[in-house]
Amino acid sequence: MRKRVVFPGDRIGTIEEFKAGKGVYEENRELFAFVAGFLELKNKVVNVSSFRTIPEIKKDDIVIGRIVDIRGNFAMVEIVRKKGESRDLSYTNHGFLHVSNVGERVENIGNAINYLDIIKARVLDPSPRLSIKEPEMGVLKAFCSSCRNELFLDSGRLKCRSCGKEEIRKVSDSYGKGEW
Ligand code: ZN
Repeated sequence: MRKRVVFPGDRIGTIEEFKAGKGVYEENRELFAFVAGFLELKNKVVNVSSFRTIPEIKKDDIVIGRIVDIRGNFAMVEIVRKKGESRDLSYTNHGFLHVSNVGERVENIGNAINYLDIIKARVLDPSPRLSIKEPEMGVLKAFCSSCRNELFLDSGRLKCRSCGKEEIRKVSDSYGKGEW
């Protein structure tokens, strides 16, 4: 079963429905997430267990990951590997990307990344918060939102060979080069 992921400020429910536990705050009889993490409900008490910090990852590391969820101004990234290491991390974990760390003129995060894209990102802190602002960072591999085929980069435009659709991403300098 897929756990529900919440971000700070997400509404969880009312105080009539639940009791506030860890990582949850109350405002005007409603409950909201205080941290980003997984929502857990036990005996009517809701907790948000924040994403574990990843011991192998520290500030300024470069990581590769896959976009697994996009909601509001945030994207959830499943981090798979750290740059400089040839093997995958001993366990996968989640980082998150806020729209303010995507690019200068990006207002809607869905205009810069999409579900299942593979990205290269800089670790801002070990919570881990990620950034793809630098030219080197961003989408390494993207898939057509209509037919799911991999998009190729042609003179700065991302195109689908199958259906001809063009899409926009905040691409990395290394897009489509098979390296990162
Ligand atoms: Zn397509």
